[in-house]
Amino acid sequence: MRADTARFRTDDPDALVRASLACPICLRSDDLEWHAALDGYDPSVECRCPRCEESWRVYLEPQQALRLALLGAV
Ligand SMILES: [Zn+2]
Repeated sequence: MRADTARFRTDDPDALVRASLACPICLRSDDLEWHAALDGYDPSVECRCPRCEESWRVYLEPQQALRLALLGAV
């Protein structure tokens, strides 16, 4: 599985936060399936693009995990 680190800043608007998790192939950030593991030492989000059938994992800083939780999308 691909792995990446999140590139958004905690004060970025929602759209940018979502865009940072976009599919690496088709670059879509909507209609993704997200499975967040925001607790624990190494928070991450597992994403899956239903169109490309590609899965990838994005690793987050604790502050980014908090930001993503506030987004309410995971
Ligand atoms: Zn895709």
